[in-house]
Amino acid sequence: MNPTNTKNTDGGQKNIEQDKIEDLKISFRGSVLPAGTHGYDQARKIWNGMFDRKPALIVRCVGTSDVIQAVNFARHNDLEISVKGGGHNSAGTAVCDDGLMIDLSLMRRVTVNQEKKTARVDGGCLLGDVDSETQLYGLAVSAGIVSHTGVGGLVLGGGFGWISRKHGLSVDNLISAEVVTAKGQLVTASERENPDLFWGIRGGGGNFGIVTSFEFKCADIGREVYSGLIVKDFSDARKYMQFHRDYVRTLPDEMTVWMVARHAPPLPFLPDDVHGKMVVIIPFVWLGEPEEGEKYIKPIREVTKSLGEGLGMHPWVGWQSGFDGLVGHGARNYWKSHHLKNLSDACIDQVVDFAGRLPSEECEVFIPHMEGVPSRTSENETAFSHRSTPFVLNIHTRWQTAENDEKCLAWAREFHAKTKDFASGVYVNFLSQEGEDRIKDAYTGDAWDRLVAVKNTWDPENRFHMNQNIKPSI
Ligand SMILES: Cc1cc2nc3c(=O)[nH]c(=O)nc-3n(C[C@H](O)[C@H](O)[C@H](O)COP(=O)(O)OP(=O)(O)OC[C@H]3O[C@@H](n4cnc5c(N)ncnc54)[C@H](O)[C@@H]3O)c2cc1C
Repeated sequence: MNPTNTKNTDGGQKNIEQDKIEDLKISFRGSVLPAGTHGYDQARKIWNGMFDRKPALIVRCVGTSDVIQAVNFARHNDLEISVKGGGHNSAGTAVCDDGLMIDLSLMRRVTVNQEKKTARVDGGCLLGDVDSETQLYGLAVSAGIVSHTGVGGLVLGGGFGWISRKHGLSVDNLISAEVVTAKGQLVTASERENPDLFWGIRGGGGNFGIVTSFEFKCADIGREVYSGLIVKDFSDARKYMQFHRDYVRTLPDEMTVWMVARHAPPLPFLPDDVHGKMVVIIPFVWLGEPEEGEKYIKPIREVTKSLGEGLGMHPWVGWQSGFDGLVGHGARNYWKSHHLKNLSDACIDQVVDFAGRLPSEECEVFIPHMEGVPSRTSENETAFSHRSTPFVLNIHTRWQTAENDEKCLAWAREFHAKTKDFASGVYVNFLSQEGEDRIKDAYTGDAWDRLVAVKNTWDPENRFHMNQNIKPSI
């Protein structure tokens, strides 16, 4: 299935009466944008250029009252709802055809409590907003690695990044959330209030309501981290990967070392003739004294020759936005992913084979190492499942023009199929539009049953279905 041609059949062409739109505008603080009005085309854009959907109406909320009015408006007018946080979900779920797009991207306030080491974060914030504000105090919220990604979708699906091995996933650091329900009511979800909802939103995605603000526990990481990139020749990829699979599993939680096979970006520390060559990039972050971190990095330097390296103390905010340019807005993207039980020789053979014939210069094969604190947290704690799987394989297929769709989609699907035998589960936030069975793969059987029960309670009419949908059973 080509995502650009996908039309959501639950929606249908809607003509919303002008009077109703005018009524909504009276008390709506943000902007109300019917098709054709100034700002509509900009607002409906999302990160993945594969999706060119046209909602009947876009509302750009600036506060909780706007979100409540939007949900009520959709219900009263029987409009399909899509919710846009940072607009980064590669499956394109932030935008619908013909329905109501509830855009939270103007809701970006972050308030830090330095004493308690907590942060209150609006539902439309980007990761960069959170880093900027928390770093004023040397604090950070455990989240992802690209600053223009939205907090909303990332956290509701789980959320992992450079500090999650040491400090837990984003959902493990969530203290509470303010949620607008399908009935347009504002409720708090926490261990004490509505604990079933609190459990569900920690991994179950946007299925249960719209989160207007999150409250997080912050980690004290300081303003600079010892971090960097070591770049290896792709001709040594097999040897390096065989070393990497065992080596990373010996590391303390303070050290996170990942692996990316791609064409070399024009990094300043690489010789000119390496730019554009196929390489394996080893990015790492160490949370501790740099001298100690350097000891852990030594074996990476020794196992195969490096084409270049850029290591040192980096400001956290700078490191967190260092990869932004490689994954900017508007390109065509197709992601296929699964967790890997291990990186066996046979699995590495497939990775090296497919990485060796990337269908475009911008594609990458991304293999983060997980484990650490999340893997020692009980599976029942949150809806996020498969906590003990050591590796994720994320096939980032990225290209610029529609004429390359077929070639790029076929490569990703074949690669994914060929690594299926080594897989167990998937991260819900890395799914494309792959159907209900695949969504189930993101959860254990118990978690899935529990998620359906939470859905039955909080959204029995499935108003929030533009997501990796958990259908109610009643
Ligand atoms: C460049 C890039 C880098 C990434 N890096 C990481 C990473 O390091 N770690 C990681 O864990 N994931 C990462 N991801 C995956 C990311 O977690 C998902 O794409 C996520 O859905 C993005 O959230 P968003 O708010 O930007 O997306 P959107 O497309 O806006 O939202 C996705 C869905 O989430 C729901 N949603 C969003 N906000 C809210 C809200 N406030 N209330 C209720 N529902 C909401 C809606 O159902 C929506 O359809 C990355 C993605 C990209 C594109």
